[in-house]
Amino acid sequence: MTFEALGINTSVLKALTDAGYTKPTPVQEQAVPAAIAGKDLLVSSQTGSGKTAAFMLPSLTRLAALPPAAAGKTPNQEMQAAKARGERPRFKAAQPKMLVLTPTRELALQVTTNTDKYAVNLRGIKAVSILGGMPYPKQMQLLSRNPEILVATPGRLIDHMESGKIDFSQLQILVLDEADRMLDMGFIDDIEKIVAATPDSRQTMLFSATLDGVVGNMARRITKDPMVIQIISAANKHENISQRVHFVDDLSHKNRLLDHLLRDETLDQAVVFTATKRDADTIADRLNIAGFSAAALHGDMHQGARNRTLDSMRRGQVKVLVATDVAARGIDVPTITHVFNYDLPKFAEDYVHRIGRTGRAGRNGLAISLVNHAEGMNVKRIERFTKQLIPVTTIEGFEPKRTAPPRSAARPGGWKPGDNRGGKPGQRSFSKPGAPRKEGGGYPREGGSGGYPREGASTGGGFNRDGGGYKGARTDGARRSYGDR
Ligand code: AMP
Repeated sequence: MTFEALGINTSVLKALTDAGYTKPTPVQEQAVPAAIAGKDLLVSSQTGSGKTAAFMLPSLTRLAALPPAAAGKTPNQEMQAAKARGERPRFKAAQPKMLVLTPTRELALQVTTNTDKYAVNLRGIKAVSILGGMPYPKQMQLLSRNPEILVATPGRLIDHMESGKIDFSQLQILVLDEADRMLDMGFIDDIEKIVAATPDSRQTMLFSATLDGVVGNMARRITKDPMVIQIISAANKHENISQRVHFVDDLSHKNRLLDHLLRDETLDQAVVFTATKRDADTIADRLNIAGFSAAALHGDMHQGARNRTLDSMRRGQVKVLVATDVAARGIDVPTITHVFNYDLPKFAEDYVHRIGRTGRAGRNGLAISLVNHAEGMNVKRIERFTKQLIPVTTIEGFEPKRTAPPRSAARPGGWKPGDNRGGKPGQRSFSKPGAPRKEGGGYPREGGSGGYPREGASTGGGFNRDGGGYKGARTDGARRSYGDR
C-alpha cells in the first residue's frame, strides 16, 4: 500500500516524501481513507504506531479541499482595521476548523510539530498549540491569527472558551488523542464541555490505548456510526524492546548500578524515570557531577524550560533525561536506546508508556527496571498487565546480596541494539491454569476515572504456575523451579 493510494492531498504527499516516509503504517492504511471520506473513527492504537499522521493526513486533505475562507479578515486584521477607523478594537474570537485535544503539553507540541511538517506545502493552513503554562499574551497573539488547527490541552482551552477567545461554531474536525489518558487525568468534565461547544455536524476521531469501559462509553456518545479500528502492532506490544529487571539491595547499590549501566557503549541516549520531581532533580544533578550530560524534566518546570530541555535532547546535547511520568509522555526521540525505571511506576500502564520512549521509528530498545526486593510484587503486576515476563538479570560485580526470586532470568550484560530477549505476550504465566484472576488485577488506581477495567488487565490471559512455580532458565543456564530457593 502506498500513500498515493490512500487519497492524500498531493502537497501533503510531497511533504511526506521529504520527511522520508515511504509507506503508511497499519493504522494509517485503515484510518486515512475512512477519515478522508468523513467517517468518525474510534481507534485503539498507541504512540509510536503513526497515529498522529493517521488523523492529521486525512484532516489536512479535507481542510485543503475547503473553499478559500470567505474573504474574511483574521481577528488580528479586523482589530487593525478598527484601530485605523478610530474605533476601539474588539477582540474577535478565533474560529478554528480543527481541534486536537491531548492530555499533555508535550504531546500537544509533538502533534503541532508533526502537523507543521505535513502541512509545510499547504498555504494558509497553520496549527497552533494552546497549552497550560504558556503565557496568555503569547496565546492571544497566536489566536489572533485565526489558525485553522488548534492543538490543545483541555484546561487552558476551557479558559479561552469561557473568556470568548475561541468560537467553535465553524469546527469541522475534532480529534481526541490518548483519550484514555485524558480521562485518567480527570479531564472528563472539560472534554464534555468542549465537545458540547462544537457543532453536531463535526467529524470526530478518538484515539486511545483502550476502547473499553469509561473511555468506550464516552467514545460512543460523541461519535456517529464510527468505524472501529484496533491495531495490535509490534510497536503496541513493544516486541522491539528488550526488558530486564535488576534487583538492588539499597539506594547506593541502585545508584552504582545505574552509573554502570549508563556507561554501556550501546547507549546513545536514555530516559531515567523517577517517582518524584525532587528525585528527578537530585539524580540529574548527581549524574552531571558523575560526568554524564543529564537534565531533569518534570511538571514543576516552566514550559519554556521543558521545551529547551527536550530540544537539547533531540539535538543530542543531553544524553540522559531524568523525568517523571507526566512530563515524559509524548517524548519522541528516535535515538533513545535505553529507558531506566529508577522507580517503578505507580500504574502498570505507565510502565508500557515509559518503555515506549525507546524502540521508536522501527529501532530496537532496552528497558531496565532497578527494583528492590520488596517491589517484586509490583514487577509481577506489570508482567500480568503486559502479559510478558521480564527477565531478571545480574551483572558481575553488581549482584544483589539477597538472591533475587528466580522467577525468570536472562543472560547478564551483552545486550546490543537488535537483541530482543523480552518475553512474548502470553508466553509464560503465573496463576494456576484456569484459576480466576481478579478483575483489573494489578495496581490499585488512585483518583483518575474510577477504575474502569484497563486493557490487558481483564480476566484470562493465562498466567499460570505449573506445580509450584514458574520454571525459568537461570543465568547459569540451569533449569530451576520457582520454589527452588
Ligand atoms: P506517533 O505514533 O504519531 O507518535 O508516531 C511515531 C513516529 O513515527 C513519529 O516520529 C512519526 O514521525 C513517525 N511516523 C509516522 N508515520 C510514519 C510513516 N508512515 N513512516 C515513517 N515514520 C512514520
